[in-house]
Amino acid sequence: MRRLPIYFLTDVSESMIGEPIEFVQDGMGTIIKELRTDPYALETVWISVIAFAGQPKTIAPLQEVISFYPPKFPVGSGTSLCNGLGHLMYELRKNLVKTTSEQKGDWKPIVFLFTDGVPTDSPSDLQAVISEWKQNWQRSANLVVVSFGKNTNTTILGELTENVLFFDNADANAYKQFFKWVTASIKTSSLSVENNSSGFELARFDDIVTKIDLSKESRKPVIDDNFVVLAAKCQNTKQPYLIKYRKNVFEDNYGELGLNYRLVGAYKVDNTYFEMSDENATDMKISTDKLEGAPACPCCGNQYGFAYDETCGKIHCIGNEKISTCPWCGNKAQYGFGGGGFDVNRTRG
Ligand SMILES: [Zn+2]
Ligand SMILES: [Zn+2]
Repeated sequence: MRRLPIYFLTDVSESMIGEPIEFVQDGMGTIIKELRTDPYALETVWISVIAFAGQPKTIAPLQEVISFYPPKFPVGSGTSLCNGLGHLMYELRKNLVKTTSEQKGDWKPIVFLFTDGVPTDSPSDLQAVISEWKQNWQRSANLVVVSFGKNTNTTILGELTENVLFFDNADANAYKQFFKWVTASIKTSSLSVENNSSGFELARFDDIVTKIDLSKESRKPVIDDNFVVLAAKCQNTKQPYLIKYRKNVFEDNYGELGLNYRLVGAYKVDNTYFEMSDENATDMKISTDKLEGAPACPCCGNQYGFAYDETCGKIHCIGNEKISTCPWCGNKAQYGFGGGGFDVNRTRG
């Protein structure tokens, strides 16, 4: 039986932390559950999931639907499309069965690339990886790029494929509809395999995803400023967590428009966070004046999850202890609650 390999190349940069990553996680579960009840998909579809932030990682190697167990998605800092695509091409080279005189190889793989931000790679690195994709894979793979929200660079994405779609990832229900569409697209593609057709057929779009007209669209957002995400560590458990703020435009007492960031929440992450992150990820600063609200520590429940250690410039939780020890650098300090803003490093979502 010829396989129809489906790859999910998923951006897990920090702006995905919280609900979005949970929705994607649930979505993958739904896809698999649905495909298991579809005779054509069961026969032909093989699935792999690759996550990428600053660094890439195969979180589910290529396997049959029947034995597939939805992986847990990590998060990391940075959005290296180069590392993501580079790793995808490596996996394609490694796994695909070629057609020879003795055997019929795999169907053209279908790649779903989900991204919600702007690549943090240098322009020359991006050009190199785009050329490699064009030269080696553009014709031998079907790539579907889905922009989660509007803050992506469709000019770059449009160089990879003509299938660049926009998904308005507003809420839980939108994600549900979206993954239904992905599932339906895999089903129609596996049915097309059955009929000896192209093996690539996206389901009807309806209002869930819209195709981006690349000839008209030319937006190049520079930095993802919808969210500010700060990396922190728990003083008690030493575990990392992320503090997420959302952009908020408001009118002040004088009728002037102001901009700040409001707390969304704090989320425990595990040490894969550092594995997935870009090492140069923390070179952008934001003043705490612009941040509204401080979370409790999601790891140990300490009331204050936003203490700033001036020695190393990093954030950790504090409790009632007299002397606190920074879990990043070991520095001991006494904390008071002073006013005034200071700069903290923001990560590159
Ligand atoms: Zn803590
Ligand atoms: Zn420190």
